[in-house]
Amino acid sequence: MDFNLSNSQLEWQLKARKFASEIIAPEALKRDRKASAQDRIPWDWIKLADKAGIRTLGIPKEFGGAEETILTMCIVGEELAAGDLGFAVIMDQCWKMAHLFKDAMTVSQQNKFIPPFVADDQATTAIGITEPDIGSDHQGYYDSADIGMKTTAVRDGDSYILNGTKRYISNGCMAKLYFITARLDPSKPLSEAGAVFIVPSDTPGFRPDFFHEKSSQRLATNGCFHLENCRIPAENIMLGEGKLIELRSQYMPGSKAEAAATVLGVGRAAYDYAMGYAKERKQGGKNIIEHQAVSLMLAKMAMLLDGARLQIYKAAWLADNQNKDAKVQGLIAKVQASEAAFEVCRLATEILGGAGIMYDHPVEKYLRDAASFLHSDGTNQICSLRVTKALAGLNKAALYGF
Ligand SMILES: Cc1cc2nc3c(=O)[nH]c(=O)nc-3n(C[C@H](O)[C@H](O)[C@H](O)COP(=O)(O)OP(=O)(O)OC[C@H]3O[C@@H](n4cnc5c(N)ncnc54)[C@H](O)[C@@H]3O)c2cc1C
Repeated sequence: MDFNLSNSQLEWQLKARKFASEIIAPEALKRDRKASAQDRIPWDWIKLADKAGIRTLGIPKEFGGAEETILTMCIVGEELAAGDLGFAVIMDQCWKMAHLFKDAMTVSQQNKFIPPFVADDQATTAIGITEPDIGSDHQGYYDSADIGMKTTAVRDGDSYILNGTKRYISNGCMAKLYFITARLDPSKPLSEAGAVFIVPSDTPGFRPDFFHEKSSQRLATNGCFHLENCRIPAENIMLGEGKLIELRSQYMPGSKAEAAATVLGVGRAAYDYAMGYAKERKQGGKNIIEHQAVSLMLAKMAMLLDGARLQIYKAAWLADNQNKDAKVQGLIAKVQASEAAFEVCRLATEILGGAGIMYDHPVEKYLRDAASFLHSDGTNQICSLRVTKALAGLNKAALYGF
């Protein structure tokens, strides 16, 4: 076993760390407090991230991307999120979809959709699965015709006509390209009738509605949009009838590990800040780090972060090596890292005392941000249920979700 990162991984880590500390961190708090979601979208940082090769980190080399591994994306994700979680999520939504570009698209779809994505330095991607009537049920294992996804796709000559509403979507209403799930036959369960379509945002009938206002990841959007008789060419179907299950089983191998890595970055930022504060702040005649009560909290924080990082790296490594245990490990890493990061951020607020909740310090923001991944990418309860079901060999769909 080799715990050393490769030279290329170290270079990406350094580049992302510099990007986060020089560009993101100095501005993140100010931008976080802007009142409107529209005004918070960091278009300038997306452009700069494009210049640095970060936006296209997962895009195949032949199309001008870096085609980096999942482990590298986790390393870069942690660094960016130490600057701002929302921005890291904007990038990660592009990296997750890079696997779809690379492995799920046909060659003609690749030639149609990848070059414009690469050429446009502010383009991002999004995946629209969640709807008012389906949240956990697409992450979990509830497979029935009479519940869940209402979005439909009806074949009409050389087209499909999509109708439905998607909500909570990361990069929603700001992305240029969407991967949309729909039911081809409302009388059949998703395992038989679920499909995935590629929908550019300028397609007539694609109607952005609003950005959800929220307390976490405030620089990233969560959009609600509608598909209203949205006609797309039949060749834009990416995963056809009943292949929806392949979305997670085959084409989003790093999804959970990457998500886990971003929330880990928030925990690390909180730990670093609390450590710096504890070294400076004097009470009881000494720096508070010299009080055992504070020192023990810092040790616990370091241990939680280290454990989470190891689990993330393991999940990423397994996914990069197409190991059969990658999916369970991804779920484990997501749950462990989000709970570790949330606890680390909570402890950081305690170490800062009253300052922990004041706007003069970033720690209250870290705590708000860390809370998002207790729910995002599947609630931790659902992810945990999937771990048990999968380990017990009870239900294949539990492992893959829809
Ligand atoms: C920040 C953020 C980003 C997101 N980004 C995207 C995105 O890009 N694309 C997308 O499609 N979706 C996205 N989502 C949606 C996300 O996948 C869902 O919010 C999540 O799966 C939970 O669904 P829900 O919100 O409908 O909660 P519900 O499913 O209503 O869950 C409510 C509660 O019930 C519990 N519960 C539900 N079912 C069961 C069960 N069978 N057994 C036990 N407990 C259960 C849950 O654990 C939870 O505690 C995002 C969400 C967030 C918060």
